[in-house]
Amino acid sequence: MEKIELHKYSYDYAYSIETWIKEEIYPKFWLATPKFDWGVKRTASRGGYYADGPSINMAMHGAYKDTKGEIYRHFEYPSFDANKEIGGFYSRNPLHKLEAIIVHEMAHAVQFYAYRLNSTRCKPHGTMFKNFYKRLRNQFINPYLPEQAPLKQDYEDYKDRLVGKRLRKSFNKISDEEWAHLTQRAAGGK
Ligand SMILES: [Zn+2]
Repeated sequence: MEKIELHKYSYDYAYSIETWIKEEIYPKFWLATPKFDWGVKRTASRGGYYADGPSINMAMHGAYKDTKGEIYRHFEYPSFDANKEIGGFYSRNPLHKLEAIIVHEMAHAVQFYAYRLNSTRCKPHGTMFKNFYKRLRNQFINPYLPEQAPLKQDYEDYKDRLVGKRLRKSFNKISDEEWAHLTQRAAGGK
């Protein structure tokens, strides 16, 4: 997908989550001016309560990688990365990662909205966050993820292939240089 399409896709996706939150959690919740930043230096996406209300600020360059159908693992916040419902996952579809990050940041937006509503606070990735994130994950992400067990094996195989390729590459590089060096010497060169 091209940048402009991804931008629109993400925008619409965030608003579809807003609609669901209004219907299922807080009728007066709203998403205020979501931002989709393509700067290559922006690595971390954010969600919270901004000057104009609850919103998200997405670091798109890190959130979307065209993996060309190759398998990848999406990593979640370390303390719950291994959790089946809210943890990391395997996929071949780059949109799954992008969507999961939007959902994660939307959960922060609701969390901070709830803080104001209930005059309460909790850790950024604490119980309140996890509860909202779980509801959103089960609605928007988990039902659409491929079966994880076979993908886990594919991912391990893929990593082995990558490591193998890298080893071969560095071996060839070294041996080419070494070879030139050695042959020049052998021929009485510099
Ligand atoms: Zn977070």
